[in-house]
Amino acid sequence: MENRLKPMDAEQLREYGHKMVDFIADYYKTIENFPVLSQVEPGYLRNLLPDSAPNQPDSFQHVLDDIQAKILPGVTHWQSPNYFAYYPSNSSVAGFVGEMLSAGLNIVGFSWIASPAATELEMIVLDWLAKMLKLPEDFLSAGQGGGVIQGTASEAVLVVLLAARDKVLRRVGKDALEKLVVYASDQTHSSLQKACQIAGIHPENCRLLKATSSTNYALSPEFLSETISQDLTIGLIPFFLCATVGTTSSTAVDPLLSLGKIAKSNGMWFHVDAAYAGSACVCPEFRHYMDGVEVADSFNMNAHKWFLTNFDCSALWVKDRSALVQALSTNPEYLKNKITETMDGITTVWLGKPAMLYKKSYQVGQTF
Ligand code: PLP
Repeated sequence: MENRLKPMDAEQLREYGHKMVDFIADYYKTIENFPVLSQVEPGYLRNLLPDSAPNQPDSFQHVLDDIQAKILPGVTHWQSPNYFAYYPSNSSVAGFVGEMLSAGLNIVGFSWIASPAATELEMIVLDWLAKMLKLPEDFLSAGQGGGVIQGTASEAVLVVLLAARDKVLRRVGKDALEKLVVYASDQTHSSLQKACQIAGIHPENCRLLKATSSTNYALSPEFLSETISQDLTIGLIPFFLCATVGTTSSTAVDPLLSLGKIAKSNGMWFHVDAAYAGSACVCPEFRHYMDGVEVADSFNMNAHKWFLTNFDCSALWVKDRSALVQALSTNPEYLKNKITETMDGITTVWLGKPAMLYKKSYQVGQTF
């Protein structure tokens, strides 16, 4: 019995790994035969699986047979060429082969010393990607800024909202939280609202300004200016503007430069969410959609949407990494070490699956 419960060894990894690759390759060869939308009824799986985990190990082949017979019918096939729902979520063979390496190395890189290659590779690759997107140099890690991988765009906007909130509260005092106001168009992804809820921004201070067909559903700078003026008159504190390049429902592109100037003249943090369409901007013919990003404080695009990368990988760049570090760092004893105490910078893990608010921006040697 003890013998049968032995973990698989390297030779079994070789054997079963090949079988798993064959399984996935066959899936892709036949993916167009599946109905894109799963046809099962809610609760279908409970009837097909035992009530409790088996006491005895199963053969690998039997597990694969179960996946074929019981799991695949309950899958909606996001990678099918016939899938047109929500937004593109393309992966690639390169993407999942990389995931295999990531899973195999299974690094927990919460500080530089915990795996130097993870930290350094992440910083280098995000600099590469920033250059491909022609982001201003301020977003590169050589200066005060840098890129950091988040799980999702929802996490990215939350992280920068927290940084912006704490930055303004350091200036105006902690008691002013109820006066802080966030602005965006009503086309903005709902993750902004969720981030506001988590960050303690009062719901009535989250201004989702109506965008109409007259501006191709982009946020009007005039409307923004008017709303900010009204809020200032009644003693509120505008502190965060979120613009979008490619809104989820209408692919609207907000006028970054004009909006950013308004944000700057009011001392606000300006975030640009290009989660969905940002990948396209590596193409020279689409780069102009990002014009004006030079006035942004932070910029985000999802590699897991249109960049042939497995879910989840969301790239976030900031101009001032110290704002993130100040808002999100802790410094527990068990993470301190001599090397990282002499370093500074934004660092996270490049390889491996991120966990919500775990694999986030922090100073080298610090986490939160
Ligand atoms: N922002 C935009 C413009 C989006 O289209 C989406 C998702 O569709 C998001 C944010 C949220 O992305 P995520 O699922 O990575 O949180």
